[in-house]
Amino acid sequence: MLEIKNLHVKLEEEDKVILNGVDLKIGPGEVHAIMGPNGSGKSTLSYVLAGREGYEVTEGSATLQGEELLEMEPEARAAAGLFLAFQYPVEIPGVGNMTFLRTAVNAQRKARGEDELSAGDFLKTVRAKAKDLKIDAEMLKRPVNVGFSGGEKKRNEILQMAMLEPRMCILDETDSGLDVDAMKLVSEGVNALRDAGRSFLVITHYQRLLDHIKPDVVHIMAAGRIIKSGGPELALEVEHNGYAALLAEAE
Ligand code: ADP
Ligand code: MG
Ligand code: MG
Repeated sequence: MLEIKNLHVKLEEEDKVILNGVDLKIGPGEVHAIMGPNGSGKSTLSYVLAGREGYEVTEGSATLQGEELLEMEPEARAAAGLFLAFQYPVEIPGVGNMTFLRTAVNAQRKARGEDELSAGDFLKTVRAKAKDLKIDAEMLKRPVNVGFSGGEKKRNEILQMAMLEPRMCILDETDSGLDVDAMKLVSEGVNALRDAGRSFLVITHYQRLLDHIKPDVVHIMAAGRIIKSGGPELALEVEHNGYAALLAEAE
């Protein structure tokens, strides 16, 4: 599904290297988790995959189902099936949440050569998916994320993901700012989307999310590269011992 090879990234404006040879291969239907100390480049990796500006790829490649992502416009990456749930969802004053979702869904369908959803079908779908995530009708009417709590913003990201039905879903610290109940809701939303043709990359600081969203593979990222990969037990090891031992081992 996603194959990242020897990815090196620096800031466009400064000579600061952030990713230093990332290799990662995620098969269809697989769930991979990335953990790692703050500042190790986890968000940067997700931004570079999604096409955020300000970064320069100096070496390496990233393909989605064999297609080179790094040369595509952000909207083309989304149309190809990539989705990123932001660590810090942005407020968009003046744009209604419902209008935003409908525009995104229809743009996606158009890019895939499918017909637009009728207003009725769209409403029915969005209401059902919002209900599963306990997002009330009021939140659907408000401008995107404006006045939402931290947890509501994160649930709204999952609603977007559920509506867009991407193939490769990246969740950047979607669990931070969530209380236990909201984390359960979000995890159920993610688990409901798991299937043989859809993959997930879950970036998290905390092992507890991985009790709900069971990963196939856990990677540890430090200083811009993946220093260790393993099964779910690797997340438990981090929870118990912290990163220090793994960092020393990698040195
Ligand atoms: P993580 O998500 O693992 O906490 P980030 O990807 O957010 O790490 O950041 C990795 C490093 O790159 C940090 O040192 C961060 O300050 C730096 N960085 C990332 N993006 C920028 C930017 N646009 N400008 C300046 N520094 C940046
Ligand atoms: Mg961070
Ligand atoms: Mg981050």
